Amino acid sequence: ASREAAGLIDEALSAVAAAIDEAADELGRMDAIAGDGDHGIGMQRGSRAGADAATKAAGAGAGAQTVLERAADAWSDRAGGTSGAIWGEMLRALGRRVGDDDAVTAEAVAEGIAQAKDAVMAFGKAKVGDKTMVDAIVPFADELGRRVAAGEGLREAWGEAAGSCESAAQATADLKATLGRARSHGDKSIGTPDPGAISFALITKTVHRVLAE
Ligand code: ADP
Ligand code: MG
Ligand code: MG
Repeated sequence: ASREAAGLIDEALSAVAAAIDEAADELGRMDAIAGDGDHGIGMQRGSRAGADAATKAAGAGAGAQTVLERAADAWSDRAGGTSGAIWGEMLRALGRRVGDDDAVTAEAVAEGIAQAKDAVMAFGKAKVGDKTMVDAIVPFADELGRRVAAGEGLREAWGEAAGSCESAAQATADLKATLGRARSHGDKSIGTPDPGAISFALITKTVHRVLAE
């Protein structure tokens, strides 16, 4: 069952890399307003490397955790930057929870996403309201967890959570950046959403499309 999940993870990561390709210029422009402008190129390099590593691992018969770990290593190595390291942490945390041998249930995915959220917050020390991707991952993980606990299936719960995540990411436009490179240009960021929150929301939406196929 974890091997079936491994194939789905590979498919999802490949779809993510394609979606990021299309959004890269816009993500770069957003990052240039209060950051250094490399979020598009970094995400492009990271997600492509992650997808390629996942395809290779899944093709060799690896389970879900191993596929996610290979993708995590490749993503953080190739992306550089804060967001690359964070995406590595998230994929590794999700992998640890789903494992290589067990059936990947909706509960396991929801718990894995909650652990990915905890990993990001432990790694980067950002809190909700600091205008980072944390502002997108927290509502995503919380809503997914609530809906799965209430008995909703993964596809439906993920779709609703992705919708909340998108609104939350857009709402970061009203905040002032206080962390990372954006710190020194915080005021300039008002009116533009946080690029890492926007790319996170795009990724959850893309994964939902794969789950719904
Ligand atoms: P860099 O800032 O190293 O150039 P990117 O441009 O790829 O890396 O990523 C910037 C994004 O990383 C920000 O938009 C924000 O969402 C996220 N980010 C930055 N610092 C943190 C942090 N401490 N915790 C969580 N996310 C962060
Ligand atoms: Mg940047
Ligand atoms: Mg940078």
